[in-house]
This record gives sequence, C-alpha cells and structure tokens, in this order.
Amino acid sequence: MAEVHPPRRRLSTLILLAAPAALAVSAVIGDYTGTAGHPAIMLRPGLVLVAVAAFLQGAAWLIARRLESATAFAMLGIALVVDRTLAGVVIIIVAGTAAWRLWSVVIRGRSDHGRGSARFLVPLAMLLLGSAVIVAASRGAAENVVGEPPTPPAAHAGTNLPSLYVLFLDGYPRHDMLQTRFGYANSPFLSWLAEAGFDVYPDSHSDYDWTRGTLVAMLSGEPYPEGERLGGAAELRRMRRLLGEAPALTSLASAGYETVTIRSPVVHTAGEGWHRVIDTGQINDFEIHLLAGSPLVAHTPLQSVVRAWLMDQHRDRVRASLAAVERIAERGTRQAALAHLLVPHTPFIFDERAEPADEFTDCWPRHCRFYAIYADDFGRSTEAYEAALVKQVRGVNRLITRTVEKIVAADPSAVVVLMSDHGARHSKADPEEHHATLLAARTPGHPNLLADEPVPDRLFERILDAYRASE
Ligand SMILES: [Zn+2]
Repeated sequence: MAEVHPPRRRLSTLILLAAPAALAVSAVIGDYTGTAGHPAIMLRPGLVLVAVAAFLQGAAWLIARRLESATAFAMLGIALVVDRTLAGVVIIIVAGTAAWRLWSVVIRGRSDHGRGSARFLVPLAMLLLGSAVIVAASRGAAENVVGEPPTPPAAHAGTNLPSLYVLFLDGYPRHDMLQTRFGYANSPFLSWLAEAGFDVYPDSHSDYDWTRGTLVAMLSGEPYPEGERLGGAAELRRMRRLLGEAPALTSLASAGYETVTIRSPVVHTAGEGWHRVIDTGQINDFEIHLLAGSPLVAHTPLQSVVRAWLMDQHRDRVRASLAAVERIAERGTRQAALAHLLVPHTPFIFDERAEPADEFTDCWPRHCRFYAIYADDFGRSTEAYEAALVKQVRGVNRLITRTVEKIVAADPSAVVVLMSDHGARHSKADPEEHHATLLAARTPGHPNLLADEPVPDRLFERILDAYRASE
C-alpha cells in the first residue's frame, strides 16, 4: 500500500524544497531595487542562482538523505554565494542550532529531537523574499519598464538620406588632452582619420562629465538635471525614460530610418524605444554588482578566476558589439545606429595591439568597483594609469578602424561619427579634461558639418537636418 503523507507534511516538504531558491531570488530582487534596468535583467542571474540552489540541495540530499539537512546546507551555500551579511546570519543559525543539539544530547542526556536549523532558516528565506518584493515595489521598481513603443520607420521618406552610424566610445579623451595629460599624440590614428575622410573637431566638448548627461543631451536635447543625486534608482529611471522617449528616435523614424542601438553592459543607459535593441549577451553591470557582493568571490581564490572571466566578458562584449555594427551595415537598409562601447573607459582590457590586457582590477571587488574611474580608486600610481590608458586607446583605435573600414566598404555613403561622452576623468582635480570629448565625423558631401557646435547635443537631428536641406 502506498504511503500517504498528511497534507501538512506535503506542504512542509514543498516549502523545504523551495526555501533555498527563495533565498536566491530574494537576493536578486534585493539588488535589483537599486537599479533602473528592465526587470528582465533579473531573469538570468535568478535562474543561475536557483539552479545552484537546486544542485546544492540535491547533492546534499544524496549524501544525508534528509531534506531538512539538505535544505539548510543549500541555504548556507546560497548565502555564501550572494551576500556577506546573509552568510554571517546563516552561519550563526546553523552553528547555534548544532551547538544546542549537542548540548541537549551530550550534556543534558536527552534524546535528539532531530530538529535542525532549517526550522529557522526556512522562515528567514520566506521573510527575506517577502520583504524584498515589498521594498522593490515600494521603491518603484515596477516603473522600470520605460519608453514609448517605437514609431515604425516612414516608408516613403527622404530617398537620398545616408545611414548614420555613431560609435560612442565611452571616456575617449580629446586629442589635445591625450597629448598634454597622457603624453600620447595619437598621430597614427589622426592620420588614419584624415585619410578616411573624417573631420576631427578639436574643440569638441560636452556640458556633462557623466555618460547619462551626454546621452540624454544627444538623443533628447533636454538639459540633464545635474542637481539630482547621481546614482539613485529614481534618477536613473528618469534618465532611461528620457532616452526611451527621445525626440531623436521619432525624428529618425519619420525620416524613414530604422533605429538600432547596441547596448553597453550598463543596464540603465539604454531605454526601450528603438526599433532594434541589440544586446550581445555578455555579463552586465547588474550581474557584476551581484557577484561583487559575494563573500566567496571577495574572500577566496575564486576572486582571480571570476575577475579574469569578467575581463574576458568585457572584452568579448566590445568585440561582439563591433561585429554587430559591421553586420548591420551589410544589411543595406537605411538605419541610424548607436553602438555604446564601454572603451577606452576602465577597466583596462586591451593592450596597444588590441590583445588582452589585465591591469588594475586586482582591487575588485573588495577595494574598488569593476568600472572604477579615477586613478586613486585603483590604489595605483597616476603614471601607471596613464600608461595603461594610452595602451587601451591604441588598442581601441585598432579595433574601431577595422570596423569603420568595414562599414564604409559595405555602405560608402554612410555617415560615421566617432565620439566620446566625457574625457578619461583620471583625476578629480582636472575637470577641464572631464568635459573634453572626442568628436570625429565622416559626413560625405557635408564637410565640417558639426564645426559650429562641436557638442553631442541633438547630434542625430543636426546631421539629419543638414542632409535633408540638401536633398
Ligand atoms: Zn561614460
């Protein structure tokens, strides 16, 4: 006769099975509360952590043959993977319960009641999951789906308008700054630009020294509210809305353009609202933030393994993003593309031959952020920072010249803009460098198109206006 469990027992089995996964999901939701990325960014790390929880629980059950012990073990494992404070709490509960049982059996001579730490850990997981959901909801995480659905490209708009490709090179210093601050003239690249028909704008600058300000000025034309605290989720969300509802996207669509953006790893810097959003799939900054909170990563030899993998991922994203631009240029449709490449911004991942470099981020995650900016943040000398930056700039030059050549070969009439959003910002004491930006543009038939205003503001629309006027 089959054994029939009473309903209460079945329920507790289900809850025990679900508790490690609930703990994992609560950590992901908790981290998500501080971001403005689309909710879908929780899916990948959430699934990975749930799989880790299930694996730990299954493996422990095979050894111990007791679901309560396997659950406690899996929760301890998840806590060690996701958060130092949580790991501390779980260790205290597990050790405390074990000590109490030992005391009862050995010292007081009672029979073991068999109840382990799971009876405390399971309610803890459910409590954490519930409060993570409530906190995320109360802080407006549900508003993270932002932006208007894109207007379809007008079918019979201007016929001779060229495709537009903007390679947004985050933190690329202006050439005079490269020379005076970093001692590198960048001559081979400047010669190549001239030969390839680019105008280089020596006075190019942005009102902003943060990516988001320049991006918003470029796409929406709105002055970005500098007064607000940088980094708060509400502020990031507002920025994403400005980017997702940017007038530039509507203007381009009504001029017959398909708008395409290739995302950087920074989840809040691309709103919806483009016809195509290409994410090349490597790790993003939300996931890096989750990893950075892991005591296993921070305090064990795993640090160097994970760090090297992150550097690889970061390199792969840059290469894959450039390959994506090359691919879309071959499609032969009229498009306006913005590829946000997080180079030569730190970390330093390329040497001067565009081969892998691996400098500076030893401090991650305990002493610096993965995308730390200032030389001071890395605890390294300014000279070492400057040398690494110059190598990275040279490596990036190699990569982008190859891509630009491919774009132009596929689409000879293409407008190509190489620009940065701010300088390298290596030193807080040098704001002039922060606002000096790279701006080089190939605008066939319209030489020096941006000379009157060498700024990022309304860039797409200004180019569009010039080409429309001459149609
Ligand atoms: Zn930037």
